[in-house]
Amino acid sequence: MPSVLETQGLTVEFNGFKAVSDLNFSLEKGELRVILGPNGAGKTTFMDLITGKTKPTSGNVLLNGHNITGLEPYQISKLGVGRKFQGPNVFDNMTVYENIEVSMKGYYQVFKALFYRKNQEIRDKIHEILQRIDLLEKAHHVAVNLSHGERQWLEIGMLLAQDPELIILDEPTAGMTAEETYKTGVLIETLFKDRSIIVVEHDMSFVRQIARKVTVLHQGRLLAEGSLAEIEQNTKVQEVYLRE
Ligand code: ADP
Repeated sequence: MPSVLETQGLTVEFNGFKAVSDLNFSLEKGELRVILGPNGAGKTTFMDLITGKTKPTSGNVLLNGHNITGLEPYQISKLGVGRKFQGPNVFDNMTVYENIEVSMKGYYQVFKALFYRKNQEIRDKIHEILQRIDLLEKAHHVAVNLSHGERQWLEIGMLLAQDPELIILDEPTAGMTAEETYKTGVLIETLFKDRSIIVVEHDMSFVRQIARKVTVLHQGRLLAEGSLAEIEQNTKVQEVYLRE
């Protein structure tokens, strides 16, 4: 399987401190990968380097084999990398439907969505997304009135509207109830079958629900990589988590 994303010797220093150090990472097309690591391990910085928010001191980021190191976040986003921060980050005063509508990929589609609301193709696509995130019945509710979990799902729907090839989710279950967390896992499993996904997560019950392969970071370096079972047996990983 070809890699959708690869990093080679990725390193960033802040005043001499290596927040991410010599990271070699590879994600296959269609893979769902969990990134684990204690606070300060470098997970957020790693995602910032992939999405162009932070520029590396050395090393490369390849997207489908093309070197995207040093590109600006908007350029990387245009190339098909979508990121959801902890959020939720939605337009509070718009309806659920409108939030998805304004997130549709490309200006042409936004234009069509805004000025030709009856455009069937767009409506079908929005309908499908709302169904997938289970908010169809609340399509005309104003976003501010949704629960925390629903707002998180709406933001995932907004990301889907941009049709990214690679999706990065930063702690998508932060602040959720156990039930909402479980539902998010089901959503991610079904939603992204045809996409590549990176999920940065702490919540181990959630990780058990969704994980196939896990990458563990510690002090900016890759500590371990493998199936969840392998990771849980790994003595280096156990030590790091016991020390927390
Ligand atoms: P995680 O997301 O795993 O909790 P981070 O990537 O946020 O870890 O942080 C990794 C380390 O890098 C931390 O020690 C943090 O203080 C440091 N760091 C992150 N960004 C900066 C920055 N812009 N300047 C200085 N230090 C930073």
